Amino acid sequence: MSLHVAVLRGDGIGPEVTEEAIRVLKALSLDFTFEEALVGGAAYDATGHPLPPETLALCQKADAVLFGAVGGPQWDRVEPATLRPEVGALLPLRRELELYANVRPAKTLRSLMMASPLKGENGLIDLVVMRELTGGIYFGQPRERRNDGELAVDTCLYSKSEVRRIALQAVKIARNRRREVTSVDKANVLETSRLWREVVDQVAAENPDVKFTHMLVDNCAMQLVRNPKQFDVILTENMFGDILSDEASMITGSLGLLPSASLSDPRGNKVFGLYEPIHGSAPDIAGQGRANPIAAILSAAMMMEYTFDQAPAGRKIEAAVEKVLDSGLRTADIFEPGTKLVSTSEMGQAVATAVAAD
Ligand code: NAD
Repeated sequence: MSLHVAVLRGDGIGPEVTEEAIRVLKALSLDFTFEEALVGGAAYDATGHPLPPETLALCQKADAVLFGAVGGPQWDRVEPATLRPEVGALLPLRRELELYANVRPAKTLRSLMMASPLKGENGLIDLVVMRELTGGIYFGQPRERRNDGELAVDTCLYSKSEVRRIALQAVKIARNRRREVTSVDKANVLETSRLWREVVDQVAAENPDVKFTHMLVDNCAMQLVRNPKQFDVILTENMFGDILSDEASMITGSLGLLPSASLSDPRGNKVFGLYEPIHGSAPDIAGQGRANPIAAILSAAMMMEYTFDQAPAGRKIEAAVEKVLDSGLRTADIFEPGTKLVSTSEMGQAVATAVAAD
């Protein structure tokens, strides 16, 4: 059966890096259908809205979304602000598609190991942060959110079902890895964390093949610097995940190479997800062939693993990226003396060739 992918290239370097991700996917020789739609500033210019209804409709019927990036200075002053690309496209997409599980792998590429601020073997990490994306203090109860000048209030809310569904996503991901989940909370202080822990314990009992442990968030922040290799899957709520995923990303030393997935509930037998590089639209280098396409390519690898349940195909793409970097090819952002400078499309072509040869 055909693997149906909605392609939302977006703005700036989004189209360039997405092109290379598609090139690499095609090298897998599987039966893909790629369907394109406008998003972000490009959609605003063409239709007057950064997320046209036909774009959302395409995402709703596809198995997965491959997303580039949106935004740029030419749309920063669009009024009303709700029509600006990030606010008018990204946030509604996440909400409408119920993308509640944000998955951010942080894996050091061996050939870029010296870029890690943690020198030596300690900087060689391979972990995933699974962050709850649609609940917690960032959403809370809008009616209770206030600031009267002297006193400001945000509320943190979690329901059992919200915790359960993300804990189950963590189980699924851990099964393709070392089968270890560290659930991170602040259960010594917060009621929401105590509920979180209770539900995670239930999920752990139902899935004994995956080892669960609990860790307090302050300890986790410290352990990530002290001994990050101990982690396989870090499962945590929205705000803790926001902070810890950035901390983990920096350990790899290469923020611009990192992919992400935002997952929803399964549609039929497939987990629906939106896959995108963690970087933005980089308007400063757009259209110059200088963008590094690896984050987009690795996002496509995540799509193979999580939505299409083809972890070997995902690993094949990752291995191809490592091979190409080991051979010394570098885009401008990671260039160092002694390596060979290549363009966005040359890097994509090299990875695609390595995938096809595998
Ligand atoms: P950015 O990630 O676009 O760029 C930061 C710096 O990193 C720039 O110097 C850029 O040239 C460089 N860079 C980023 N990706 C790169 C790549 N693949 N290869 C080489 N260099 C790369 O962040 P920013 O400058 O803060 O934001 C630019 C625009 O992107 C803004 O409009 C912002 O709102 C938007 N943005 C969008 C998303 C998204 O679509 N998910 C995420 C973040 C920012």
